[in-house]
Amino acid sequence: MCFRARRGTVPLPISRGGCFLNNAAIAAERLRMAGLRPAILDVDVHHGNGTQGIFYGRDDVLTVSLHADPDRFCPFFWGGAQERGEGRGMGHNLNLPLPRDTEDAGYLAALYTALARIAAFGADVIVVALGLDAHIDDPFKCLAVTTEGFARIAQEIAGLDLPLLLVQEGGYVSDALADNLTAFLDGVA
Ligand SMILES: [Zn+2]
Repeated sequence: MCFRARRGTVPLPISRGGCFLNNAAIAAERLRMAGLRPAILDVDVHHGNGTQGIFYGRDDVLTVSLHADPDRFCPFFWGGAQERGEGRGMGHNLNLPLPRDTEDAGYLAALYTALARIAAFGADVIVVALGLDAHIDDPFKCLAVTTEGFARIAQEIAGLDLPLLLVQEGGYVSDALADNLTAFLDGVA
């Protein structure tokens, strides 16, 4: 559901995806209003450009996204590592673009960077934008995370020992989709 826009456009508080409501952002905002300090961790294969845009100028919600390098993948014009926030939000957006065909080891290496940032932020709850489309058999064929890899990803996230709110996102029809979700849920259990 992506379309091309003019390169160089700054992040905007809108989504370029197929969603009318940004559930992860709504959840994070509600948690913040309740006095918590939420971090959004987006593991969907696509960059969370809508989420980034919503919180780009804020320092009360940390946004972190692991995704396929947008230089050659949707959303194309957001998701670079240089996009770190603006104003008060500077340093509160972390993008970790990954090369095509990144396997479990490479993904986990980036995840450790993400989790270290979340810990440094002092988050007391993590909203996980749980896309499963980084799987090797996902129709997008962009990254190469395995089913076992999703279990490891979940275990590492759970290792921060913070409350987790999982928001299911991308993950397209493949025989492995149910197994991937099961592996993730088992991993955080
Ligand atoms: Zn996706």
